[in-house]
Amino acid sequence: MTQSHEKRIDGMTTKQTFFGLLPEEVKETCKDRGIPSFIGDQVLHWVYNKNILDPAKMRNIAKKNQEIIAEIFDFSLFKSVSSLMSHEENAVKNNCVLFDNNIVECVVLKEKKYNTLCISSQCGCPVDCKFCLTGVIGFKRQLTAHEIVAQVVYSHSIGYAITNIVFMGMGEPLLNYENVFKSIDILTHPKTYNISKRNITVSTSGYMAGVERLIKDERFVNLAFSVGMADPLRREQIMPTEKRNPILTFIKVVKEYQSMHNRKLTLEYTLLENVNDSEFDIKSLINLSKYLNAKINLINLNPHPKIPYKPISVKKLHQIRDKIKKEKCPVTVRYKKGQDISAACGQLGESYL
Ligand code: SAH
Ligand code: SF4
Repeated sequence: MTQSHEKRIDGMTTKQTFFGLLPEEVKETCKDRGIPSFIGDQVLHWVYNKNILDPAKMRNIAKKNQEIIAEIFDFSLFKSVSSLMSHEENAVKNNCVLFDNNIVECVVLKEKKYNTLCISSQCGCPVDCKFCLTGVIGFKRQLTAHEIVAQVVYSHSIGYAITNIVFMGMGEPLLNYENVFKSIDILTHPKTYNISKRNITVSTSGYMAGVERLIKDERFVNLAFSVGMADPLRREQIMPTEKRNPILTFIKVVKEYQSMHNRKLTLEYTLLENVNDSEFDIKSLINLSKYLNAKINLINLNPHPKIPYKPISVKKLHQIRDKIKKEKCPVTVRYKKGQDISAACGQLGESYL
């Protein structure tokens, strides 16, 4: 084996973390240890199709090989996890304690026919948007590909088969590019969960180098752009990233990216009372949506004592939605799922405070 693969973050085992490996890498590792590669396929099947993470329970594999598999691979997901179901039973928040005691949160959003997992890409976030609790707690560390995939595996293990993934949990996914896209390659592989690439959305606060790399790598995903404020002159007040990643340049890069494929683009707009809800602000947002040919998703602020803003009234939210509709821009309102369990947008990270 030429590549060196991830090991568990606490260094307490020398095994390779299984969920950070592509199926080809699993098989290659097996081969290196003298196990025929079809056994690698059997292991993948037990893990991803049957939710069996203990090699001793992989019945069609000989005991000797089960023992070798257990020696090579680390199948542990997290140190511990606590799950909370929202009152309306449409969201489940998993609080996952990592092996170095950092915490990462992911949220299952239940729909009638499918489940979406809102996944985290970093512990905390360095971007520091002033309306986001994850920004308030600051940056702890990058998640490994294993830790990203483990969020999906855990959700499966508690009975929620995941069909859709949104990178809208903790962290800025484009600042952890390698691990995020490795995890996407793993999750979309036919020998794992085979999640459709069209059902994966990466959300960014506007990290330019990240989208430039997507263009260079010809990696096409549904993109969500968290606008915050469409007015370049005032955007920096709530999103300090504006200084290095000016929206006016960023949107040109996004436009180029969109011209290369036909995946979706959404503009996420978190509404803050008397900050970004004026007629001028909404007009600027509409112009942006027309320029980028993008859908607008309105999110009313989820308030928190550590966040210095207030949400707007429901009446105003509907007025803004109708105004956008009148301009013939596609618009949706994201209703808060799981707010009672601090699982809604921008609320992740509570456990650190
Ligand atoms: N870092 C990425 C993805 C995580 S944030 C990004 O910023 O896009 C996911 C979404 O939650 C973003 O659209 C963000 O604007 C929104 N958000 C953050 N804090 C919020 C809050 N307190 N209330 C409502 N939405 C919030
Ligand atoms: Fe980070 Fe996104 Fe929160 Fe901004 S909104 S601080 S980029 S997680």
